[in-house]
Amino acid sequence: MRPIRSGDRGPAVAEIRAVLTGLDLLSKATGPFSDEFDAATERAVRAFQQSRGLSVDGRVGAETWRALDAARWRLGARTLYHAVPVPLTGEDVRSLQERLLEMGYDAGRADAIYGVRTARAVAQFQREVGLAPDGTCGPHTMGALRRLGRKVVGGRPQWLRESDAIRQSGPTLVGRTVVIDPGHGGTDPGVVVPDGPLRWTEADLVHDLASRLEGRLAASGVRVQLTRGPAPETCLPDIDRAQLANSLGADVFISLHTDGHANPDAEGVATYHYGTDNGVTSATGERLAGLVQREIVARTGLRDCRTHAKAWDLLRITRMPAVRVEVGYLTSPADRGRLVDPRFRDRLVEAIVAAVQRMYLPIERDVPTGSIDVSELRAAVAAGTMVD
Ligand SMILES: [Zn+2]
Repeated sequence: MRPIRSGDRGPAVAEIRAVLTGLDLLSKATGPFSDEFDAATERAVRAFQQSRGLSVDGRVGAETWRALDAARWRLGARTLYHAVPVPLTGEDVRSLQERLLEMGYDAGRADAIYGVRTARAVAQFQREVGLAPDGTCGPHTMGALRRLGRKVVGGRPQWLRESDAIRQSGPTLVGRTVVIDPGHGGTDPGVVVPDGPLRWTEADLVHDLASRLEGRLAASGVRVQLTRGPAPETCLPDIDRAQLANSLGADVFISLHTDGHANPDAEGVATYHYGTDNGVTSATGERLAGLVQREIVARTGLRDCRTHAKAWDLLRITRMPAVRVEVGYLTSPADRGRLVDPRFRDRLVEAIVAAVQRMYLPIERDVPTGSIDVSELRAAVAAGTMVD
């Protein structure tokens, strides 16, 4: 097909202009009322090509035509399903994938193709809201997505149930499973600092922290599993770490990292939980992240770089309260000087244990940050009395 280009005229141009108008790339006042490929049409085509990652030449060849055709579909206008062998594609599929991702479902990349992974994410959503999990997005599923999609503050329905489950499960840590994830490892050392007596790689340091944390939690009756040993051969991708935690049925997932920056003045601790820019968040993940952050700041004096919502694989795919902690900057002489001190690392670990314990205290029985002696608290829990 010869590309449709500047100067052309006719029904095909009128159709192109209609789609571009629907996408707000052409003015509603003039867009639909002409069949001329004018300068405004060319600008709109270029903008469209850029937004879709196509080569930007301002002409409508076969590839751009297909993309424009797919762009017509608005979510809800047709039933979406996993078609074989040629999958459905379109803007409606992309909107659906984005909505599923925002809600924490593993729909893969928002690539506008309704493949197996999208169908599986739809089926999981259907199961959680009590619809037949057939992986097909018809009017009922669309209705449930509309009702829940942007309104539910706790994110996906599973997270609301999670909060309830945590409230009802009582304050004891005995028998719970915590997966600790020392970041990096193997071929990936993470942040590396210059040679000298204070030399540590991030991978080694966070493994040391993970082992200390493992010991402290195990002493509280927690089943602990690390995602890697001290010197693995390869570096496990985040997605595999998350899936390991899922397969172990973990109650809590804690990923340990240190930060690094070209500016040696950058320092402090930051904590991350699942969430998106639109305010969708894992309520339990956010609570755990807040507790970890506040306990560490109170007990160690590291600068408070606050908690943040991120849609990283590690946090998105894990099905339990999950946090990633960046316990200071290895590139900061101040932070590094503290981190190489084993007593400081014990204080860090104590702070994380306190946070995990507070996660299971009913909110009205919660204690001030930095105030609990973990062993005292454990004794109180065991005796059936709570700390005030
Ligand atoms: Zn790291």
